[in-house]
Order: sequence, then structure tokens, then C-alpha cells
Amino acid sequence: MNSKRQFQIGNVTIGGDAPVVVQSMTNTDTADVQASVAQCKQMIDAGAQMVRLTVPSLKEVEPLKEIQKQLKSDGYGNIPLIADVHFNPKVAEAVAPFMDKVRVNPGNFTDKRNFSQLDLSESEYAAQVERMALRAKPLLEICKQHGTALRIGINHGSLCDRIVSRYGNTPEAMVQSALEWVDICERHDFHKLVFSMKSSNVLTMMTATKMLNDSMLKRGLSYPLHLGVTEAGNDKEGRVKSAAGIGALLLMGIGDTVRVSLTESPENESPFAHTLIQAIENLDVTNLNIQNGTLIYCDDELDETRWMCRAAAVAGYAHFRHGLKEVMLQNAHFTESQNLDLANLVMQACRIKILNTEFVACPSCGRTQYDIQSVFAAVKQRFSGRPNLKIGVMGCIVNGPGEMADADYGIVGASHGLVCVYEGKKRVSEPMLPDAAMNVLEQYINKKLP
Ligand code: SF4
Repeated sequence: MNSKRQFQIGNVTIGGDAPVVVQSMTNTDTADVQASVAQCKQMIDAGAQMVRLTVPSLKEVEPLKEIQKQLKSDGYGNIPLIADVHFNPKVAEAVAPFMDKVRVNPGNFTDKRNFSQLDLSESEYAAQVERMALRAKPLLEICKQHGTALRIGINHGSLCDRIVSRYGNTPEAMVQSALEWVDICERHDFHKLVFSMKSSNVLTMMTATKMLNDSMLKRGLSYPLHLGVTEAGNDKEGRVKSAAGIGALLLMGIGDTVRVSLTESPENESPFAHTLIQAIENLDVTNLNIQNGTLIYCDDELDETRWMCRAAAVAGYAHFRHGLKEVMLQNAHFTESQNLDLANLVMQACRIKILNTEFVACPSCGRTQYDIQSVFAAVKQRFSGRPNLKIGVMGCIVNGPGEMADADYGIVGASHGLVCVYEGKKRVSEPMLPDAAMNVLEQYINKKLP
């Protein structure tokens, strides 16, 4: 591993030469203590080594304390708990004294995302950075005092106006956003830091993470990196996307903690993450067979899930390094058509060849108020087979529209079981039941892509 800085998050060591740690996230309402405790236990029993819970407002702070207390008294106190905070520094300050780690998103910590002013002068730009630094100071002091770690979680879909105005919606913009926080934290002598650079686009996520890793090394820094492909979806597609992005970076020696995000029950995430880490351990990628842009990858792995992980990780790695045009997979333990199907999934995941509708779907969290798993399954069934179409299915209106990136259309959760239809980033329907929303979505799609 490249990361040399090592520290404890609760009882778990991350960074340096510590093994890669598997993280997962609840999708219960954090205010519902019993449901959240039960889900945390299921996830931990399934292999989660750190558990993240969303904290949308101050209302969830006391329930979070109770969740932590109950998990401790039930023998699950060894697993670090992480608070996921957006938009409200006060919430981050309220949970930092008792949580093991707090995740904040620089894109919405203090900066705005309304794109009202895109041409900032040098002094306006500097003033906004300074405002963010000032606002971060109390949180950093609390984290320092209590030994709490901080994850600076950059998401491609939620970069702030200021960063986008200067660097565009690019991997470089993500890196600059992270480096601003390196400076802010180092100014306050705070170093218990983890960074993540997530995107639903596998190549963007890989590029941004590698760029940040290299930028930190150039500066003599080596903070641990958390890896994940956001809105990866479900089933084989979601797993292959995650294996391509996370696996490729692990093959480069980058990454200290990982989360495989799936639009499924959260306890499905960790077993796959562990399989991925083990399946690619000691995989040699020094002499890949690439001819005229085609990766020809042969393997004799017997287990189907491990074969999927190895093929996706190697292809992700090769595409990142060499820019592939085609992937051919050969494994005598599987039929030709199984190998071809997997190659197609891998090419779609890496966007080497788009052969099907591109679906992005968030894993959901405590902000989700509808049955996203069944709606996503229905959307996939109804709108598959259209390679020129990208559809997002997102849990909440707060982060969903931004995070579904460049999707053509989306179904985004509103409140009380209702959802809204989006065309790009524009809402085009009132909140309605998911079945009705799918009909509206179909009308829009048919108008544009008859
Ligand atoms: S987009 Fe999904 S995962 Fe992200 S905050 Fe909203 S519901 Fe949670």
C-alpha cells in the first residue's frame, strides 16, 4: 500500500501496512433506534468492519448515541461507527465527540451548489475557502480533542459552485477540493484524515483517486484513501462496476478502506467486498495480453464470483492504464456464453462499450422514503436494452439529482413513498407513486428516443 500514515478508528487500524478494511452503510431511519441496531448487527455479522449511518439533522444525534450504547451492550462495540453528515456543520460538531469517525462532503459543508455565480475573482474565491476553513475549525478542534477521525468524502456529483467554476466537473476538480481540505486540516494540525473520491463513472473515480494519491505523494503526504463506486446499482452489474473501480485501484496498491455500494440489503455489501479483496490478492498484472486495444484475459479461477472480481479488476486496471477498445475473457471452467456475458458487463461497467441502458442507482440510506430496491428492479426490467439511454434511480431529493450525474432521466425519492421524475437535473413531475412515475418516465423517453 502507498499510504504510510496509520491510525486507529475505534479499535480498527487503517492505513500504512494494515489490511484493507471493509465498510458498509445502513439504510434505516437513524431515528429508529431498534431498526438501526438490528441492521447494524446483521451487517457486522455479514463482515462489515466499520458501519456508517446517516445523520441528516440534529434530531438523529440522540438516537445515534442510543444505537452506539445498545451495540456496545450487545457485544458489537468493537466495530467503529461513522456518522455521515451533509449540509450542516453543527450536526458534525454534535456527533464528533462520541462517534469514531465523521464523514463530511466539502461540496455541501458550507459552499453552495446553486450555480448562481460561476465567475469568481481571485479574492472572492479565496474568501470562500477562508469561510470554509473558519467554519471547519470547531469541528477539527472537537475531533482532535476526542480522537475522532474525519473522512473528507468528495463526490463527483456534488462538487460546489466555486470548485466547478474554476476546474469544471472533472477529476482535477475533485482533487483540488480534497487538497483544500488537506491545507485546512494541516493548518489546524489535524491529521486523522481519510479521503475518498467517488463517482458512478468507474474511470472518473479511478482517475480522481489516482490523481489525489499522486498529488499527496508529491507533497510528502500519505493519508489513507477510502474507495467506492457510487450509485453502482445492484446484481451483477453493480458488483462488476465496483470490482472494476475498487479492484483496479487495489491492484495499483491504492486504497485502505472500501465500500461496495449496492441497491440491495446492506448486509449483501461486505461479503462481496471481502471476496473482491481476497480474489485479487497477489494477482499479477505486469504482463497483460493487450493486442490492438483488446485485452485478452485468461484465468482458471473456479468460483464464479471470484472470476467476476478478477476479470473486472484486471479490465479496469488495463483500461485505466492503456485505454481498451475490447475485452475478451477466457476461463475453461465457464461456458463461452458465460465468459462473453461477463466481458460485456465489464465493458459496460468501464464504458469501453455501451451495450445496454446505463443504470445508476444509489444504495439508499436513512433519507430514503420509498422502496427503492423494488422500484429499481422494475425500472431495469422496463427500460433495459437501450444503449443510448442513462437512467438514475435515487433515494432522496436532497442529494439524488446531483449525484445521478449525467443521467438523461431519473426517478428520485420525495417523501412518504412518493417519487418525482427528472429530465437531467430538472424536475418534471410532482411527487407521485412510483408506478405512475414510471409511466411519466416512459412518455419522456419515448418522446426523445422513440
Ligand atoms: S442519494 Fe441515496 S444514498 Fe445519497 S443521501 Fe440520498 S438516499 Fe442517501
